[in-house]
Amino acid sequence: MIDASASQAPRRRLHRAARFRGAGLFSGKAVQLSVHPGEPGRGWCWAVGRAPAIALEPQHLCPRPRRSTLFDKPTGCLAQVPEHILAALVMLDVDDCTVRFRNGEAPLLDGSALPFVRGLQAAGIAGPRRPWTLRVEVHWQGRDVCWWGGTTPARARTFISAQEARKAGGLGSFPGARPGCALVFGRQHSSRYGGRPRLRDEPAWHKLADLLGDLGAHRARGRLTGLLQATAPSHSSNPELIEQALSTGSLRYID
Ligand SMILES: [Zn+2]
Repeated sequence: MIDASASQAPRRRLHRAARFRGAGLFSGKAVQLSVHPGEPGRGWCWAVGRAPAIALEPQHLCPRPRRSTLFDKPTGCLAQVPEHILAALVMLDVDDCTVRFRNGEAPLLDGSALPFVRGLQAAGIAGPRRPWTLRVEVHWQGRDVCWWGGTTPARARTFISAQEARKAGGLGSFPGARPGCALVFGRQHSSRYGGRPRLRDEPAWHKLADLLGDLGAHRARGRLTGLLQATAPSHSSNPELIEQALSTGSLRYID
């Protein structure tokens, strides 16, 4: 629920809908996703297919192995791999929107949030740019990365080790995998599947992007401020980590 004072402040919304098409990593099917301007003051909503949109809430986060998932028990609506579009909405500081998953899974595209950021920017975002007061720090496998506004984490692709990829039958466990959709580490930590790394410490940055995506279930109801720190974050541990940061006051909603 959005309070009256929040709805009176200028809010950031899309000028028009942004649409995305691609393969679903887990379903292997052609899938579509669209992001609409949404209702002013309502925050972020989501929907699957033609179902009515519902307000996105933290309890909708329902992590599965290697991805996040949104699930609404009363309606049975389920959307897989929402984390990259939600991360893009966090990074672009959008206040109101409706995300519609046409086929129950977001397209993986290049495995990063960058195509979503670009698509949302191309649709245009109305509303004031505001100073960032939210800081997110991630420690992952001896690497530290820190985000304090901007879209750098969007460039980082999802990743898998070459060993894991072999175990998965040459990415056969991921029927929607396409060349260029992930960073695959070889012996020299170079990519054999998706080209050369885009960023120094790209996997740590991707972990941060995924954390921002999970944080989106909270950002849905209002802007956040403070500090969120994570060591080896994962979709399974992120919801509890975020709840804990909110309960200690390290992370807070801006009134
Ligand atoms: Zn990811």
